[in-house]
Amino acid sequence: AKGADKGTWQRYRGELHTDMAQRLETRVALLDAIDAEQFRLLYQPIVNLRTNRVEGVEALVRWQHPTRGLLGPYHFIELAEESGAIVAIGNWVLRESLAQFARWHADDPSGSPSYVSVNVSARQFRTPGFVDRVRAALTEAGVEPPRLLLEITESLVLRDADQVWADLRTLRALGVRMAIDDFGTGYSSLSYLREMPVDVLKIDKSFIDDVLHSEKQRVLVETIVALAHNFELRVVAEGIEDHGQRAVLTAMGCDYGQGYLFAKPVRPEEIPALTRVEPAL
Ligand code: C2E
Ligand code: CA
Ligand code: CA
Ligand code: CA
Repeated sequence: AKGADKGTWQRYRGELHTDMAQRLETRVALLDAIDAEQFRLLYQPIVNLRTNRVEGVEALVRWQHPTRGLLGPYHFIELAEESGAIVAIGNWVLRESLAQFARWHADDPSGSPSYVSVNVSARQFRTPGFVDRVRAALTEAGVEPPRLLLEITESLVLRDADQVWADLRTLRALGVRMAIDDFGTGYSSLSYLREMPVDVLKIDKSFIDDVLHSEKQRVLVETIVALAHNFELRVVAEGIEDHGQRAVLTAMGCDYGQGYLFAKPVRPEEIPALTRVEPAL
């Protein structure tokens, strides 16, 4: 048994070493990835549950790594947050998604989404000059502010409330819309919602997963939707994968849905076909 333990330990040490080496390597490589044009954006449709039309799209970043292939955010966002590279990546995402939005409109206004939703990390939002960068990116792309929805996290809105809330108010005064992403996973009390300077709540997929089979989850989601509407917020359900979930959420009056049932994240050239025609439901 002792020999086996030793083998396990050595294997564990080896894995630990490989893991740490890879993290360090990834951290360094991330710094060059923007200049090397290795980031890509995919876009996932956001569907109006009443009309079944695609109204918006969410930009989701990918890293075309020179040796490891196409990497999802899980492989690098956290490291980018730690190293601060997220600020430059986030600015690239903002500029590129607005430029893409303008291209869709120039090519075919009837086959383009009416807004683009962009994830903003807490660190990026709190970097001085963020509001000015948003303003400059909109001007540069020639996109009207209401066409942009910024997705921020619950924890950002709770922490450093004063400066963050002032910036949220400035952005909204410009006409930019704000969403709370992954709603329900943080600690905000529902009563707090009334005061938050935001327009949209995105209910996290973990709540939608059980909405058919758990009475408790259903009541919770129903309560969030009703309360949000009471405060004149619109609600997006994330991660809808089947017709049953969609039916329940539509019956609750949830405004928008996003998930594999409608479409996975796709390359930008695939968006006009999805926007123009009704999605096959
Ligand atoms: P998120 O903002 O909650 O985005 C939704 C995630 O759920 C996306 O994963 C999307 O592909 C996935 N998804 C959507 N519908 C379904 C479904 O029906 N089933 C399942 N199983 N998954 C679904 P993705 O693209 O891997 O992104 C993961 C997270 O990475 C995002 O979660 C977001 O927090 C972060 N992220 C993505 N792009 C950016 C970015 O440009 N900046 C920042 N700061 N974070 C980003
Ligand atoms: Ca999001
Ligand atoms: Ca989520
Ligand atoms: Ca998120």
